[in-house]
Amino acid sequence: MRLFVFFLSLSISLFGIEAFNGKTSLILLDSPSGVIAIGDKNISVLAHPSDPTRGIAFIPIDYYAPSSEQNITWIAPGKTTVLPLSILPAPYPTETLSVDPSKVTPPPEAQERIARERAEANAIYAHFTPIRYWNKPFIRPIESITTSAYGSARTYNGSLKSYHGGIDFRALTPTEILASNDGIVVLAHDRYYSGGTIIIDHGEGLYTCYFHLSQFNVRVGDKVTQGQNIALSGASGRITGPHLHFGVMVYGIQADPLNLITQINALFDTQKEML
Ligand SMILES: [Zn+2]
Repeated sequence: MRLFVFFLSLSISLFGIEAFNGKTSLILLDSPSGVIAIGDKNISVLAHPSDPTRGIAFIPIDYYAPSSEQNITWIAPGKTTVLPLSILPAPYPTETLSVDPSKVTPPPEAQERIARERAEANAIYAHFTPIRYWNKPFIRPIESITTSAYGSARTYNGSLKSYHGGIDFRALTPTEILASNDGIVVLAHDRYYSGGTIIIDHGEGLYTCYFHLSQFNVRVGDKVTQGQNIALSGASGRITGPHLHFGVMVYGIQADPLNLITQINALFDTQKEML
């Protein structure tokens, strides 16, 4: 019986996939064809970046997805494979932050702007560009220590409850910020919460986001390459101090960036892959 070759995700199980809130399960398939169905959603099977005979699929799990048991079905020409998928909670720390009160209770005149910016970003993330712009591993956008991991349950000013949708790197203003991989700049302007913001479309539903910037070195429509200096870090938007917030969106879901990048980059490590 031909099954999935194996899973690069956090858990490898003979009985199915264990997937966790905020994490992405990267599934390795023995052919780059077909589609993965989960509930009423279809997920594209994509080309393996270093082995054209194989396929991969990203299954991002929303931070707030309830724990559940589901099936995922790989529908490829001539065969259908079903595997159980368990969605489980991931442990995340809690954080208490103090920020400018206007970033917790925005003034009425900011509401329209906030709504417009949210709609604009959601429209970007919902768009699936049927091209892959990258062909090498993703890099961290800055060489620095991380000051807040993805997923922390946050309370702002003692009231607003949220979670951290990306990872924060220490970055004194101004520090050069690098494109994590090749792509097209699809947003580069100042936003209410995220301050100076750049979003790069890497194709196939994958985006990286860079927040709180103080200067843009690229414009919308620019093609950027991995490691290109795209911006300078800053302290704009909802912040407690200067830093870089780095995020990843997969099919409109805010995913743990380092978790995803580590799995993608492992695809380039053929030795590891053949274990
Ligand atoms: Zn952040």
